Amino acid sequence: DLLGELIGRSDVFSAHLAIAEDPMLRESVETKIEEGMTAERAVESSCAEISGMMEQLEDEYLRERATDVRDVCTRIRQALRGTEAANPFANLGPEAIVVADELTPSDTAMMDFSRIVGFVTRDGSTTSHVCIIARNQCVLAMVGVGDDIARIETGDRLILDGIRGEILIDPDPATEEHYRRRAREIETERLRLMDFGRLRAVTTDGRPVAVFANVANTDEVRTAIDAGADGIGLYRSEFLYMLHPDDYPDEQTQFEAYRAAAELCGERSLIIRTLDIGGDKALPYMHAPREENPFLGWRAVRISLSMPELFEAQIRALLRASAYGNVKIMFPMITSLDEFRRAREVVERCKAALGREGIAFNPAIETGIMVETPAAVLTADLLAAEADFFSIGTNDLTQYTLAIDRQNEKLDEFYNPHHEAVLRMIQMTIDGAHKAGKWAGICGELGADTTLTERFVEMGIDELSVAPSMVLSVRSKICEMA
Ligand code: PEP
Ligand code: MG
Repeated sequence: DLLGELIGRSDVFSAHLAIAEDPMLRESVETKIEEGMTAERAVESSCAEISGMMEQLEDEYLRERATDVRDVCTRIRQALRGTEAANPFANLGPEAIVVADELTPSDTAMMDFSRIVGFVTRDGSTTSHVCIIARNQCVLAMVGVGDDIARIETGDRLILDGIRGEILIDPDPATEEHYRRRAREIETERLRLMDFGRLRAVTTDGRPVAVFANVANTDEVRTAIDAGADGIGLYRSEFLYMLHPDDYPDEQTQFEAYRAAAELCGERSLIIRTLDIGGDKALPYMHAPREENPFLGWRAVRISLSMPELFEAQIRALLRASAYGNVKIMFPMITSLDEFRRAREVVERCKAALGREGIAFNPAIETGIMVETPAAVLTADLLAAEADFFSIGTNDLTQYTLAIDRQNEKLDEFYNPHHEAVLRMIQMTIDGAHKAGKWAGICGELGADTTLTERFVEMGIDELSVAPSMVLSVRSKICEMA
């Protein structure tokens, strides 16, 4: 379906257009041409400088964007030379696996996905665009494999085990048969789950439990809806800010992204979280000071409240998008009623301004709180009196409750989101919400843990927001309890 394929990739390519039009790239190329370089050399040299700079950045997502810069520059140089790149994927047989050092969005644009079942790349991470495209196309991608990739030769038979993260080269017939059987079982399970695509999950006592999805961008909203999500429970807006290499996205840019997401959702809820930067996520153009304890530092709503202009641009964009769908606003890392009230005041101020300017928005837009600090849990009753809903961020709530850094691999054996303390925190949050007649959901990774689904439902959870690929598993689990 060519149209679907083009739509699926449009976000990646609009990012590429932005790179091609980037003033830094343009100025650098123009200066080099004025200094006497040929246009092609000037593009090559500017590209090396800019992508080299990006590779030095701490943030993994931004580092990945260096690949995009190189990709765009290669295309510009080809255009300057007037040479069309030959399509290296023209002669692939069926069930092909593409193995490459790196794959760019332009490479993938040349692929016939009816013949490709997987990618293996030496470089890249799960946030790279090739992964986004792989997800959209439902092909398996194993990226960042490293130098081991040299062990694979053209023509080898490969098995990609995405569950274990293993690549098997030239497997014996018994292994191949074992994997083909597993693949059939997984496919049968996938088809079984598809029956739950149009169902609503309801508990034995007739209480509906919404199964929402978490997304990082507007493109993924489409994936989530196709995957059967009842709505979007967490749109992580910071990815929009990370996509912009040198400055904050302005109100209009944000409005367009949120409006597109709202239109895709129609009547479904679209809960957009305001900027959650800081901790492990940095914006290079923000020049935030280095901190001893970034996770206890200047992050999330604390940044928004101390940078009113930045916050207002986002709130205005969200309000304007609310005229096009069922948008709700959610604030991350709230620790007190006072913080929530301050955030709400900004919403009210922006509403008044938009009203004066005659710009449409939903005056009854709901505002909710991400419950991810013990302080918010312990004051859930106070917060619920004023917030419209709660969404529990178990990733952060676990680290703050257990005093364990969620990023530190050495602590993996101690980071236990099943800890009774975390589960009690969840119960307290739900109870606090219900006493005030509000709803509570979970949008942290724990929400997708199907060994706990029954327990969450018994606790009275109203919504679970999970990765799009987990929507049907979670919904089937709830339906099977009935
Ligand atoms: C969480 O903390 O559980 C959460 C959903 O937010 P993030 O993972 O983006 O911090
Ligand atoms: Mg969080």
